[in-house]
Amino acid sequence: MLDRSNELTAWDRDHFFHPSTHMGMHARGESPTRVIAGGEGVWITDTSGRKSLDAFAGLYCVNVGYGRTEIADAIGEQARELAYYHAYVGHGTEASITLAKMIIDRAPEGMSRVYFGLSGSDANETNIKLIWYYNNVLGRPEKKKIISRWRGYHGSGVMTGSLTGLELFHNAFDLPRAPILHTEAPYYFRRSDRSMSEEQFSQHCADKLEEMILAEGPDTVAAFIGEPILGTGGIVPPPAGYWQKIQAVLKKYDVLLVADEVVTGFGRLGTMFGSDHYRMQPDLITIAKGLTSAYAPLSGVIVSDRVWQVLVQGSDQLGALGHGWTYSAHPICAAAGVANLELIDTLDLVTNAGETGAYFRKALADAVGSHANVGDVRGDGLMAAVEFVEDRDDRQFFDPSRKIGPQVAAALLERGVIGRAMPQGDILGFAPPLCLTREEADIVVEHTADAVKHVFASL
Ligand code: PMP
Repeated sequence: MLDRSNELTAWDRDHFFHPSTHMGMHARGESPTRVIAGGEGVWITDTSGRKSLDAFAGLYCVNVGYGRTEIADAIGEQARELAYYHAYVGHGTEASITLAKMIIDRAPEGMSRVYFGLSGSDANETNIKLIWYYNNVLGRPEKKKIISRWRGYHGSGVMTGSLTGLELFHNAFDLPRAPILHTEAPYYFRRSDRSMSEEQFSQHCADKLEEMILAEGPDTVAAFIGEPILGTGGIVPPPAGYWQKIQAVLKKYDVLLVADEVVTGFGRLGTMFGSDHYRMQPDLITIAKGLTSAYAPLSGVIVSDRVWQVLVQGSDQLGALGHGWTYSAHPICAAAGVANLELIDTLDLVTNAGETGAYFRKALADAVGSHANVGDVRGDGLMAAVEFVEDRDDRQFFDPSRKIGPQVAAALLERGVIGRAMPQGDILGFAPPLCLTREEADIVVEHTADAVKHVFASL
């Protein structure tokens, strides 16, 4: 094939406005452009022929791995048969109806219906509207505030970017907007009082939440949203007892729980949902990424029976729901979803995520855990993170301007492995495809240890 890398790179710098990219550096050619051409299993290849082991599954989404012809065939067949019809006013397709049934069959107990969107952000936008609608139907128009957590990630829109609790996504965008509030991140490694046990820290987080609800007035607080395990905020598993203690507070004040399972849905933690894994009983669940393994854009809100009954009551009072996307339940995306969920079952990828995940995390901890600049190695299922510190004993963090996390990620990439420098803190994250083998896990670990050694030796 003709190598068009140079031409594409020039067009890219002149015309492509990339998400989450330093605009000036990119346009001036000071940061790399990489044109990805193909993928197979856990590997991707660029137009210069360079291969990398993608230990972040794109953006923790290509869960079944690259190059799955079963999904490509399902997409092709659906496109030939019926590329599109909308889902308004009771319309559906075989693919979208089948997928809704498959999702509810796999969802935690008490779940009833699926509302389809295209991205995790729009699904959380739907959540916010449903929460407000729910309280309007129940005659509680003041109960509208939504509490999220610092370091949570829930999207990039105006309201969903407000739910997100990361500085980069707020700064200079005039976010967050009311009525969204943020409470303490369940980040045990960064707790201010280091004498606290995990359980004590969980209690501290629950107490902070309760204080906020009481200060705002319980009649004004509608919902709490959280990822079962913090993702983009640093890949941080909840401290022991966290979700039990948080849920007790939410129940006490009649506050809905939204589990944002965009990353954890469909197997990443070794269970079908993170809610099962941490014994959460959400009222609403956000899904995206793993639903189609990113072979086509598709998201959803899974609505519990408790919320559904109120929504039905609402339509009997107010008429049809005034909320819809043109591409809700797009048949091509739904066909990709059906084929993807079938593949996850056939290959038993949920079990593999649990087993290979445990193997990978232990190997990673053994390889880098005792390095003088590694403060924490953590994770769950097939999610892992290494957090770097200037001084391990004092838990001194590096000045962010030194960009230690990005340096390690770059050194790792040079060695042929993709990890992700998480946006806030010097944290190297991993979330490989759920089909990762032990041999592939070994490659990631070996190169990570080498990259860490190299970066800190050269500081
Ligand atoms: N929620 C979570 C937990 C996510 O990780 C993400 C994306 N990383 C989103 C929501 C937003 O999804 P999207 O980028 O598809 O809008």
